[in-house]
Amino acid sequence: MMIEGGARARLLQRIRRRPDGRGPRLVVAVTGGIGSGKSTVTRGLARAGAVVADADAIAREVVEPGTEGLAAVVERFGDSVLDARGGLDRGRLADLVFSEAGARADLDAILHPLIAERAWTILDAAPEGSLAVYDIPLLVETDSAALFDAVIVVDAPDDARIERLAARGVDRADARRRIGAQADRDQRLAIASIWIDNEGSIADLDALTGRIIASWLV
Ligand code: ADP
Repeated sequence: MMIEGGARARLLQRIRRRPDGRGPRLVVAVTGGIGSGKSTVTRGLARAGAVVADADAIAREVVEPGTEGLAAVVERFGDSVLDARGGLDRGRLADLVFSEAGARADLDAILHPLIAERAWTILDAAPEGSLAVYDIPLLVETDSAALFDAVIVVDAPDDARIERLAARGVDRADARRRIGAQADRDQRLAIASIWIDNEGSIADLDALTGRIIASWLV
């Protein structure tokens, strides 16, 4: 089944319903590589009334000063990851994670459970009968697709993604490197219920998002 416009969507897998009877809200993950357009799709779903949890925003919240998350990061990586004001020095942490084998896994083991707990608090609080949406770039990497009723994957050609990111001020070489470090199309294809090719304009994508809601998600 396919919806077309300047952007296209395909229904690849049946939309699952939560099997444990925890209420008829539909919980949908939106994922895709950097610059694919997933935040734009998520905003469209929010405009239609969806309750949204944003993994990137939550990832920052769980290491704010005074949090259990920041304390755990400092315990593992030392005081040098703190800036002068006691906040997390992300550049310093990134350097440590990059230079030490096993450090990435340790950091993920600290942060991922905290992020997931906060996200599910938001998603589970969505009213019955509503649409709850988790904007999660690392759905493949965290192996959590099975937790959702449906997975929307947003994709666009790499060149288009790089140009869109460059328009947002991201260095092209950096964008290319980050795309290369993420999960690839085949891995995302394997978990997609709905696949969006974001090849048209933003207006096309917004219109398509509306048709996806009307056709498949309510
Ligand atoms: P992601 O959340 O996947 O990184 P965004 O939704 O933030 O992607 O989109 C990346 C950038 O590309 C944003 O500046 C967005 O406005 C822009 N963008 C998204 N879709 C399109 C499109 N179809 N045409 C042009 N620009 C787009």
